[in-house]
Amino acid sequence: MNYFLEEYDVCVIGAGHAGCEAALAAARLGMKTAIFTLSLDCIANMPCNPCIGGSAKGQIVCEIDALGGEMGRAADATFIQSRILNKGKGPAVHSLRVQSDRVKYHIYMKRMLESTPNLFIKQGEVTTVDVENGKVTAVRMKLGAVYPCKAAIITTGTYLNGKIHIGELNYSAGPDNVLPSTELTECLKKLGVSMRRFKTGTPARVHKRSIDFSVMERQDGDSEIMPFSFDNEEKLENKGVCYVTYTNAETHRVILDNLDRSPLYSGRIEGVGPRYCPSIEDKIVRFKDKERHQLFVEPIGLDTDEYYLQGMSSSLPEDVQVKFLRTIKGLENVEIMRPAYAIEYDCCDPLELLPTLEFKKIEGLYGAGQFNCTSGYEEAACQGLVAGINAARKISGKSPLILDRATSYIGTLIDDLVTKGCVEPYRMMTSRSEYRLILRQDNAPERLLPIGHEIGLVSDERFARFEADNAALNRELERIKTVTIRPIAEVNKMLVKKGTTPLNSGVRLYELLKRPQLSYADFAPFDTERPQLKVSLVNRLEIEMKYSGYIKIQLEQIEKMRKLEQKKLPADVDYKTVKGLRLEAQEKLNKHKPLNVGQAGRISGVNPADVSVLLIWLAGKGGNDD
Ligand SMILES: Cc1cc2nc3c(=O)[nH]c(=O)nc-3n(C[C@H](O)[C@H](O)[C@H](O)COP(=O)(O)OP(=O)(O)OC[C@H]3O[C@@H](n4cnc5c(N)ncnc54)[C@H](O)[C@@H]3O)c2cc1C
Repeated sequence: MNYFLEEYDVCVIGAGHAGCEAALAAARLGMKTAIFTLSLDCIANMPCNPCIGGSAKGQIVCEIDALGGEMGRAADATFIQSRILNKGKGPAVHSLRVQSDRVKYHIYMKRMLESTPNLFIKQGEVTTVDVENGKVTAVRMKLGAVYPCKAAIITTGTYLNGKIHIGELNYSAGPDNVLPSTELTECLKKLGVSMRRFKTGTPARVHKRSIDFSVMERQDGDSEIMPFSFDNEEKLENKGVCYVTYTNAETHRVILDNLDRSPLYSGRIEGVGPRYCPSIEDKIVRFKDKERHQLFVEPIGLDTDEYYLQGMSSSLPEDVQVKFLRTIKGLENVEIMRPAYAIEYDCCDPLELLPTLEFKKIEGLYGAGQFNCTSGYEEAACQGLVAGINAARKISGKSPLILDRATSYIGTLIDDLVTKGCVEPYRMMTSRSEYRLILRQDNAPERLLPIGHEIGLVSDERFARFEADNAALNRELERIKTVTIRPIAEVNKMLVKKGTTPLNSGVRLYELLKRPQLSYADFAPFDTERPQLKVSLVNRLEIEMKYSGYIKIQLEQIEKMRKLEQKKLPADVDYKTVKGLRLEAQEKLNKHKPLNVGQAGRISGVNPADVSVLLIWLAGKGGNDD
């Protein structure tokens, strides 16, 4: 029996990383918001490695923070160990990564949802989204409740028709054996949404007492910790250690001998897996010549003895898992607490979404997170944030938030999804951005905090602190142009020691800082008038100085890209009528209906010549710039 309960502005289906950000954003923007989850105990759960950030993902977390999202603050408050990855490489790829406390992270986010005004948390399964005249009107629950709403955001993660595979066994379940969501897919198919089936996997969790850490390599966190959140001025400390060990020929032999028992190789798994997070059996088959594979042994919390074995994801049977793990140095006596498994799930075709994450054909229905074909907590959280903001802005009659590729990894990710689509789970990598020198984590506030403030998710107080920081940085950039470093003996001694040419005459500090060997700190003894600058600002100043030439080139490329993005394309055009377009381009453009020439040019099958044809055609129509 169905019964009407409360009415909401926004209903968020799912309380994973996408759902939490979506619901917090919508509620903070004044929408009466309900968030639904199959279990209250799985809010912001990390069913795989409890780690936040990492290559490109660290940048995304800083971007979420700058826009006024929660993930960065949650990660800062609950981490066990923090490290900046890729420090030996250029600043574009420096990425913060923390090992999080899984339970503490869940509690932090649950408390945050509970304490947010306008936000109502409900345990239950959404089975149906009601749509009338192409518009969302309500969501319906398995128990019968109907909640009318103006917008619904689907963030069902890996639960939609979830099926766990371990060796020969498979059964219906969400991650960690919780209940799956079984009815929503059918409803979405009836609404005309194209669904697809993907899969992912996770390694075993093992007991601390069964690990011999003394024979493994120790991996400590950074001594000076950078927070994700620009606002965090607390002194942060590491609370745990990670370890590294390796597979060997015997591990590989056990796995190869049992491949016929893997659901992946026997064809029992139909879903497409993430190429960039292969299972250990995949790695051994694909990289036959590799003598060993690295694995990281990482705590999953401070109040538990469970350890995670990063790099050892598998869907082989449990007995084979025990056997191959016990061949590894330090794991000879390992006790498995949770076996590794693979999970298949349903997700949508993101080509059916607008860059706002709203479905093109169903007004008020949005998708975010793993449901949109991505993999990863950060990828999910940032889409949730954008979908929550856009649902709220649409209801309030405001213009949508569309981030372009040059503003952020978030914009890049969404543009990739809605323009190129996905044939496998999508994970963010720095190589996906053509502007990665601009999309650094140190300058995320500069790129996005003003947008977060304008939207209403960044407070005036926080914005004032950001402006004060910016002013301090700009003053310092101007000041160092006026400071001359003289060729005195101490200066030249330092320069030679750092491996760079000594001075014959005075040189501006501004010029000297362009030398790769030298840091701002090196000149402290010779530049006594300098102001006290925050570490994060010093970091930004050095990057801006050293890479100014490259940054300038990327800014010019961005300018060109933005010009093409401003050339709007009408939604109702039949590209078959545009003379000069190749047949493939006509078909692709008719299928995707890009919003502008920039987006059209990124569709696979549309080449630069087609873009020129579109520009000429638009000019012939009298142009169409914003
Ligand atoms: C086995 C496994 C391995 C993974 N491996 C990796 C990895 O290697 N690397 C990586 O980056 N990521 C990995 N992930 C993915 C990571 O967990 C997800 O990318 C991330 O959690 C997705 O966030 P989300 O918010 O989209 O969905 P989830 O975090 O999955 O949250 C989904 C939410 O939707 C709710 N829900 C679902 N259906 C309904 C419904 N009908 N009604 C009400 N509520 C509903 C659930 O209760 C849950 O709250 C893995 C996940 C699993 C399960």
